[in-house]
Amino acid sequence: MASDGVWAVLVAAGRGERLGDDRPKAFARLGELPMLAEPLRRLDASDWVDGIVVVAPPGWEEPSILVAEQIGASKVSACVAGGETRADSVRCGLAEVPDDAAVVIVHDAARPFVPEEVIERLLTALGEGYDGAVPGVPVADTIKRAPGGVVAETLDRAELVAVQTPQAFAAERLRAAFGSGDAGNATDCASVVEAAGGRVKVVEGDERLQKVTTRADLARAEGLIDG
Ligand code: C5P
Repeated sequence: MASDGVWAVLVAAGRGERLGDDRPKAFARLGELPMLAEPLRRLDASDWVDGIVVVAPPGWEEPSILVAEQIGASKVSACVAGGETRADSVRCGLAEVPDDAAVVIVHDAARPFVPEEVIERLLTALGEGYDGAVPGVPVADTIKRAPGGVVAETLDRAELVAVQTPQAFAAERLRAAFGSGDAGNATDCASVVEAAGGRVKVVEGDERLQKVTTRADLARAEGLIDG
């Protein structure tokens, strides 16, 4: 395993209450296996990824290791329990990434399909000198800011992107951002790096990276399994 390489942190510790299952979302069935298997298999197969840290729902570390074994994942170096918020879970995962890693890619297990070309675009952006890179797709709807249900502002759609994961960062930038600031309720890692002054590039995203949140999303994802 390259000691200065690219490490993936796969965050899978969310409860996924909107799926209405009796288990965490990462363990909802997707085809024959728990959903976790699909992003793990894809990251493990990536030519760009040297090592993987899985962040499991608390109490689900053993089943997560079993999933990794079942699919023959060879790059998983640690499996740790996540925290209360996504940012807490990222922090738990980061603690297991070797100190000399050059790049950390953080990915939501709730986005099972990780196209290799997206990883390539992200790493290319880091090679251009950006602190971070995120996949983005155009926004179809008009977006308004409406605190309390009253419109305060209509945003210029031409400037907006819906941001997905995987998100890639220069490792020391991500560590510094998560170490210093209050990541609090950040819903992605890039916002923490941005708040710390980092420059983040948006690269072309992929509709297959859509997050699984509802039963309907799960059904849609089933249709992509061999894609
Ligand atoms: O909740 P949300 O859908 O935004 O979660 C995005 C990703 O972050 C999911 O893969 C989920 O498992 C993960 N997560 C986590 N720990 C939390 C909350 C979410 O690892 N406490």
